[in-house]
Amino acid sequence: MTIAVPEIVTRFAPSPTGFLHIGGARTALYNWLLARRHGGKFLLRIEDTDKKRSTTEAIDAISAGLKWLGLDWDGDAVSQASRADRHREVAQTLLKAGNAYKCFASPEELKTLREEARTAGKPFRGDIWRNRQDEAPEDAPYSIRIKMPREGAETIADTVQGDVTVQNAELDDMILLRSDGNPTYMLAVVVDDHDMGVTHVVRGDDHLNNAFRQLQIYSAMGWDIPVYAHIPLIHGPDGKKLSKRHGALGVEAYEEMGFLPAAMRNYLLRLGWSHGDDEIITTEQATGWFNLENIGRGPSRFDFDKVDSLNAHYLKALSGSELLSFARIALENTLSRPLSELEECRLIKALPSLAERAKRLPDLHEGASLFCNTRPLSLSEKAANLLAGDNGPLMGDVATELEAIPVWKHEEIKAAIMSFATARDLKPGKVMQPVRAAVTGGKQSGDLADTLEILGQEETVARLRDQAAA
Ligand code: GLU
Repeated sequence: MTIAVPEIVTRFAPSPTGFLHIGGARTALYNWLLARRHGGKFLLRIEDTDKKRSTTEAIDAISAGLKWLGLDWDGDAVSQASRADRHREVAQTLLKAGNAYKCFASPEELKTLREEARTAGKPFRGDIWRNRQDEAPEDAPYSIRIKMPREGAETIADTVQGDVTVQNAELDDMILLRSDGNPTYMLAVVVDDHDMGVTHVVRGDDHLNNAFRQLQIYSAMGWDIPVYAHIPLIHGPDGKKLSKRHGALGVEAYEEMGFLPAAMRNYLLRLGWSHGDDEIITTEQATGWFNLENIGRGPSRFDFDKVDSLNAHYLKALSGSELLSFARIALENTLSRPLSELEECRLIKALPSLAERAKRLPDLHEGASLFCNTRPLSLSEKAANLLAGDNGPLMGDVATELEAIPVWKHEEIKAAIMSFATARDLKPGKVMQPVRAAVTGGKQSGDLADTLEILGQEETVARLRDQAAA
């Protein structure tokens, strides 16, 4: 007999008022992992009810950020604003059932009452019309407020925060539908989560207080309450609120800085979730291991050094063609043209050893640019000094020697340079240094014979001759 396990449905519900920041990216990752771990669904809902602050640029930036991170969502993204009729319908249902009521207070009146309550040190619950529905004026604008319970307490068994209890008397009769007919976020989020079949709400712990208010809408509608997991916010390395300098940037900034999506996923995963002492956790492992129970309760601290060291790890693990796919845009931008097939072949060979010493993608670019056809090379001051005087013409002689090599391989190249040096009664370094300068222009490079092998006989000889002619 098979027991049917209800499907897990998670969602990421950003408000499109800015880029996809690092905290949002982590929330999205956790929701994505939970769904993928259990073969469930990960949904994307754009909470665009605040029309003044929502922008299409932000929606695009959020989608692009999620895509870059490799967090694919199921089905189409849902626009919360497009569901306003359904939100209004639920508000009317609550009104008819007596779980909500009409509030005719004007904004000015509410403001005065709120201030009076504050001065008197009393809570303001916005409930002046709660017991006065028989006095309702005709044709006057009204908002719809929920009738919160006044007795008892509510406990949320939050998967991360543990049991959290709030006295119902602390809750205000919040507005569900504004007098202009627009639903509030508090109503929309519950209706949407219910209608979308969301079973697990994983979000920042700045929403924990909202959960207690939202709970009452679920109860009033007789809907199942989702599992809650409110995750601690990300702080800077100094424990303070995350500032831009400390990493509070959009995901695209991390892409621009040269971090790999796989490294970012690993970093964001570990920033608040643990699996023993494991630091390197691939996405494949994470989709097998992720759970809500192992999310930490303490605030996490963002640490650029850790992102760098993870990135270095993931860079080393990539093949030449994978590295090329990441380095291509920057190289083509510098060249102002597409890479040729020959350059691609060289780069596929050269990039893995360059990645050994790199932390971020830009660290690869200088070394990689050596393998593109950029003659005549511009020389660094040091390289120019190495090629001054007799060394220029000497490069022409080395070119002739290397041109004669029948098999263009590391060993043969090295042997040819050595025998050239011996024949001229020169120390090997006296030949190798200017050759390196002529071929690299002074840019950082690895083993000389390897560099020449990858660069190819024709390009090597041509670069040496350029110096002989200079
Ligand atoms: N739209 C809310 C935000 O961006 C998230 C709401 C939720 O996850 O319930 O903070």
